Amino acid sequence: MNKFLLSVFVSIYFLSTNTLAVNTEMKTLITALKEPTPIISDLKQLTDEIGSRMTGSPANIKSIEWALAKFKEAGVDAHKESFNMPRAWSELSNNVKVFNENISFSPNVVSMPFTSKTAKSGLSAALIDLKKGDKSAFLNNKVIKGKWLLIETALLTDESGVHGLFQEYLDAVDIEANAYKEGAAGIVYMSSRPQNLLYRHLPSNGADNKLPIIVMERESALKAQRLLAQGHQLSLTAQLNISEESSYRANNVIAEIKGSTYPDEIVLISAHIDSFDLGTGALDNGANVSLIIDIARQMKKYNIKPKRTIRFALFNGEEQGIYGSYGYTQLHADELDKHIMTTTIDLGTGKINGFYTNGRKEITAALNKVLEPVQGLGPFNHINEAVVGTDNYDFMMQGVANLVADQGNANYASNYHAQSDTFDKVDQKQLKLNAAVIAALTLGYANLEDVTWQRQSSAQVVSMVKEFDIETSMKTFGLYESWTNNTRGISH
Ligand SMILES: [Zn+2]
Repeated sequence: MNKFLLSVFVSIYFLSTNTLAVNTEMKTLITALKEPTPIISDLKQLTDEIGSRMTGSPANIKSIEWALAKFKEAGVDAHKESFNMPRAWSELSNNVKVFNENISFSPNVVSMPFTSKTAKSGLSAALIDLKKGDKSAFLNNKVIKGKWLLIETALLTDESGVHGLFQEYLDAVDIEANAYKEGAAGIVYMSSRPQNLLYRHLPSNGADNKLPIIVMERESALKAQRLLAQGHQLSLTAQLNISEESSYRANNVIAEIKGSTYPDEIVLISAHIDSFDLGTGALDNGANVSLIIDIARQMKKYNIKPKRTIRFALFNGEEQGIYGSYGYTQLHADELDKHIMTTTIDLGTGKINGFYTNGRKEITAALNKVLEPVQGLGPFNHINEAVVGTDNYDFMMQGVANLVADQGNANYASNYHAQSDTFDKVDQKQLKLNAAVIAALTLGYANLEDVTWQRQSSAQVVSMVKEFDIETSMKTFGLYESWTNNTRGISH
């Protein structure tokens, strides 16, 4: 055998043993995640013991320390990274009365985030039925000024799913803008969930909201609507006891397994650790926090060595305006070119049906390739839409390739941000299968031979915004202004 042939054989041998090792590692990781792991007991601790984790709350701070300890126990390097939260807000208590001379009832309500506190005696005004609060309702009603506006909502079911949810957010943009413009006293949303279920989510102006907004249990709101239709005049007094402060610092948890070949290239997976405070944030998003910790733990346990660096991000401040991941993109601005792929999982424990590719069609071929080892858990169909409303946002707006897991509706929408988002709603079996999918994707990207895409330019991001028509969605989450005035997203 001549020297040349020998060297060819040797390199083929090393190449194939290398590929073999990579495949073995992938199999080991997937198998490990499907077998019993601490993922479920972790989630019980996070939701039942620590509980709801609204950013800025003591429980939120506790959850950050908890997650940090979980990574460290698993032998994974982890640290906290701080970021700015523009406004501290929490509702301490409330008391609402609907009444006239003959009728009086006290419905259960919650304030929408960033609603200011009322005077001790409460905010009293006539309650009027503004139907669905569309343009014609505002036009046809000359007496909006100084009134509480009762707004009817469509029933949100698991069938209407995430699209139903998005419609709710979308409708709120004009309703809240018109109510503010016309000088309404405040908005009373009929809860979109039955059985007296309450929930809260971000108003369309986010932390800049200036309007009193409450959600009233559906059954009481329907009663008020019937009474008004019968010609009864009703008043509403809302005493909202709210704790509010200016900006403060909060923390993300960032863990990392260094790449063996390209340590400066980064593959990031994320879930947000904060929640709203009514339930215990099990579906949104404790389940996927546990999933991310479990992937890191199993990778370390089986000594899996990715070629690129894998970053496990537990972002904070998501629910109140996606501030944790925004802070991350600011802090790591110099590294963003090196972020090969960033993936967000934030839709509970429904089966992963594929991924939103967020305007990056060119990444689909590689995406299918990295999902090959978990094909049996598919089929996976990817959707090239641009998602606004979770932690992919600032990566997308910075031109960094980003994915959001598209998950089956399961029971996510009906429990969304509600008192009922608790551990018992979690599909434990599916959560573990989803962990295997996200692990395959992550390790797959970390070991991928050819990365054929790169960070988008400012012009490309601008054209993505236009092409996918996301300006309206940006408005629903209070994100539009910061994009147009260049304080958030790639400079343009
Ligand atoms: Zn979420």
